[in-house]
Amino acid sequence: MTTLQDRLGRPLETLRVSITDRCNFRCVYCMPKEVFGRDHAFLDRRELLSFEEIARLVSIFSGLGVRTVRLTGGEPLVRRDVERLVEMLAAIPGLELALTTNGALLPQKAQALADAGLSRVTVSLDSVDDTAFRALNDVDFPVDRVREGIDAAAAAGLPVKVNAVVKRGANDDGVVALAERFRGTGHVVRFIEYMDVGHTNGWRLDDVVPADEIVRRIGERWPLEPVAAGSDSTSLRFRYRDGAGEIGVIASVTKPFCGGCSRARLSAEGTLYTCLFAVRGHDLRAPLRAGADDDELAGTLRGIWTARTDRYSELRTAETAALPKVEMSYIGG
Ligand code: SAM
Ligand code: SF4
Ligand code: SF4
Repeated sequence: MTTLQDRLGRPLETLRVSITDRCNFRCVYCMPKEVFGRDHAFLDRRELLSFEEIARLVSIFSGLGVRTVRLTGGEPLVRRDVERLVEMLAAIPGLELALTTNGALLPQKAQALADAGLSRVTVSLDSVDDTAFRALNDVDFPVDRVREGIDAAAAAGLPVKVNAVVKRGANDDGVVALAERFRGTGHVVRFIEYMDVGHTNGWRLDDVVPADEIVRRIGERWPLEPVAAGSDSTSLRFRYRDGAGEIGVIASVTKPFCGGCSRARLSAEGTLYTCLFAVRGHDLRAPLRAGADDDELAGTLRGIWTARTDRYSELRTAETAALPKVEMSYIGG
């Protein structure tokens, strides 16, 4: 199989699949309550791709070179019977199957997900300070319950990473405490620069805490040294010199990594986006439901990827932040 490359020579390696636009949290930087309140129109069930439709598309993507599939949302664990989807995807040979979750439902779901063939899990946890965390998720959800979820995943044998979005004035004073909590546990914490995704979170450049500052703050407490980047080009890695493990930083704003971006994103209703900051996507549900065969769908995907030129983060300015873009809760990060 010849590797599929976009116009900038980037292969298609990873597919992120959002399986619902709903969520049991209302994180202030993602689904602010003023916008995602009681009256918000979420997708209707019939609009969502069925598990069978997702599995068929993933299988076609796998034939085009995709090696990692990450399930996301909204909150993927609120989609009923998600473990059945995991089982269907795990049956596709050669795929690494990951999932990003807020962790709230992991205590109940971790074992079933592991049994179904999930390879690993990323749990989002922005603060270990209970008051700050409850304010960030805006549904008064306690830190301890997320910790239980992380423990349940580890007990089920799933490798765990922890993702923390850092927003100035909201949780940046808790960066060192977060690092401390997971030092020596084997769970790598990855600190993510707050991004201008969507247009509902009122993003301002001043709210971004640069990755260099995060690394400096943690390094002042426990000396760090860089680790050579592996194939996961999104995260810059650092190890504690005392051997207590690693941290990562995802510097999407201050050190964009578009040059290595090999990801496509599929929304819950079957629209394909070739960039997190895309304004428009490509509807795959229509041809899927109109009876297109696998070769036709593969041809469509090939056409989309080979035409791709996206590099938003390299071009970002205060002005581009105001452009209309898809919401994070819709596309799943
Ligand atoms: N609900 C799941 C969760 O929170 O892990 C999966 C979907 S969520 C949209 C995926 C990731 O995007 C989370 O780690 C979340 O913190 C991150 N995220 C959301 N909004 C963001 C923003 N404006 N900037 C950076 N990361 C963001
Ligand atoms: Fe929900 Fe995840 Fe967005 Fe928080 S970041 S509101 S948990 S989708
Ligand atoms: Fe990839 Fe778009 Fe992010 Fe650049 S801005 S790294 S192309 S998703």
